[in-house]
Amino acid sequence: MTRGDRVGFVTDERFFWHDARDAGGPWVEQGAEMETPEARRRFLHLLGATRVDKLLHHLEPAELSREDLLRVHPTDYLDRFKELSDADGGSMGDYANFGHGSYEICVLAAGGVYAAVEAVVTGGARSAYALVRPPGHHAEADRGRGYCLLGNIPIAIQKARAELGVRRIAVIDWDVHHGNGTQSIFWDDADVLSISIHQHQLFPFESGRISEVGGDGARGSNVNIPLPAGAGIGAYEYAFERVVAPSIDAFQPELIIIASGFDASGLDPMGRMLITPEGFRTLTRLAQDLADRWTDGRLVFAQEGGYSRFAVPFSGLFLLTELLGIEPPVPFGDFEYLDDLDDQRLNPYQRERVDEARAAAQSSGAIPG
Ligand SMILES: [Zn+2]
Repeated sequence: MTRGDRVGFVTDERFFWHDARDAGGPWVEQGAEMETPEARRRFLHLLGATRVDKLLHHLEPAELSREDLLRVHPTDYLDRFKELSDADGGSMGDYANFGHGSYEICVLAAGGVYAAVEAVVTGGARSAYALVRPPGHHAEADRGRGYCLLGNIPIAIQKARAELGVRRIAVIDWDVHHGNGTQSIFWDDADVLSISIHQHQLFPFESGRISEVGGDGARGSNVNIPLPAGAGIGAYEYAFERVVAPSIDAFQPELIIIASGFDASGLDPMGRMLITPEGFRTLTRLAQDLADRWTDGRLVFAQEGGYSRFAVPFSGLFLLTELLGIEPPVPFGDFEYLDDLDDQRLNPYQRERVDEARAAAQSSGAIPG
């Protein structure tokens, strides 16, 4: 298959019904919430408005069993979450609130990511995008964090390894926040390579350092690339060239999954990076190049964060058109000036940070010295 062949897409109306009960606090009036369905629902609507949805191969979320969840989360965590969800909702950790019925929506979201993985692994699609909600990359085995309640990608990975015969899987997380959940769940697992490019000291504040390289027996299976606030596409491209690509080349995955947050956008209210829809298109091209090299093109995207109601729809549209091998049918509009900022170019300070991440990856064995 070649670029543009069969791009799978999975979503579900119920993903947008999850109530994250995000609140600015008692002294900020309602309407300032970050984690709402709005930005990601508009992504779906823009696909409809531009007819790009007609070019996608639509998939249904897979139904997951309790056993599927137990490969990642312990019984008591799942029981407590289900009990609270059946009642009035509650919280499973810091910034991990939810309303009535969220448990089933979270299971469906993990099933959405698995459906994308299954289609790509079994040949139903060459690449696939799972527009799910809530996100999953902050969820640890026994606690929710940062709007994430279940590890969508880890659950899909473990099911794929158990049932589809996939062995080595690489995750590239370009959400602006650190992929701490994926890191912790696969900390001791040498067959899953977790790479996270994120804004240094954002969330979780204490994790995402270059010294976090994986547990005993799995050293080099975790790679963090913390970038300073203000990074543009030049810094991200350099990170891909110097750290992501050589780590993937050394690991030789059978499948690549992108933790696809759009909160590294220059318009995002949570992050302080400068990526534009055109930038996400570039990152998609770089990821597809790696997939072409190692996985026969197989590439899965799982939606993570993204909070700009204007930029998320275009970021998603530009990413999908790159997978489809077509030009974006509509422009980013008045915000295209962001592409021309001098700060889109790599600066010496960013270069130093990426070089440090590369040196750490070399010393852990992720990149051959
Ligand atoms: Zn994020």
